[in-house]
Amino acid sequence: MEHWICTTCGTQFAPSQEPPKECPICLDIRQYIGPEGQKWTTLAAMRADGFHNIMKEYETHLSGIGTVPTFAIGQRALLVQTEQGNVLWDCISFLDDETITTIQHAGGLKAIAISHPHFYSSMIAWAEAFDARVYLHEADRQWVMRPSERITFWSGETFSLADDITLVRLGGHFPGSTVLHWASGGDGKGLLLTGDTIQVVADRNWVSFMFSYPNFIPLPAIEVSRIRDIIAGYNFERLYGMRFESVVGADAKDVVMKSADRYALC
Ligand SMILES: [Zn+2]
Ligand SMILES: [Zn+2]
Repeated sequence: MEHWICTTCGTQFAPSQEPPKECPICLDIRQYIGPEGQKWTTLAAMRADGFHNIMKEYETHLSGIGTVPTFAIGQRALLVQTEQGNVLWDCISFLDDETITTIQHAGGLKAIAISHPHFYSSMIAWAEAFDARVYLHEADRQWVMRPSERITFWSGETFSLADDITLVRLGGHFPGSTVLHWASGGDGKGLLLTGDTIQVVADRNWVSFMFSYPNFIPLPAIEVSRIRDIIAGYNFERLYGMRFESVVGADAKDVVMKSADRYALC
């Protein structure tokens, strides 16, 4: 039995002898099947193919972890180190012994919280490696391809992961699309970790909000205004999106506010 991984979205599935017939996440209109059709791999095959993970420190107690060469959607996860235990924000498909050792040296993982189904990736393999719980919004429950007792489905609009860490449901891209607000991060000025619930764009003084990024399907302006109104209640100096380079380095709350206003005007 293998835990097959879809090479287009990076999602790892429940064990099966043969690869699954299809990937529901890639068949959804927010994603796509690659031009060469549905393809599968496994963690062992990825190791044999030379994939590895790199870790990069952004600022005190915040590091990015991503795969080289780029795999599937190309996101990197974020390691949030707190005195109450470490949190992995979003997840990646690839995991090996080196990555496990590196993260154990940084204090291990207590929780894995994920913005939306495109980054569910190999979340259960990660949870098992670190004996961590996985926190997902219940609105996206149908997109879990590898069910596990390690998953906690939270409901409602916010979930407190620690004294100073709040998961905030914004919706938009997916009904349960979430961001992580770290009130004491960034030397107490606050940090917002967004995946692509809020997407840092090419001009890193701006962000955007889409229903589908690969297929360029925008959100209605009224949805973006709704997201803006929720974010208005949180303070943060910097914002970290889905890739290593997706960082708004200063005045990030103003950037989100003015970006939402610009979106509504277009
Ligand atoms: Zn897929
Ligand atoms: Zn996505």
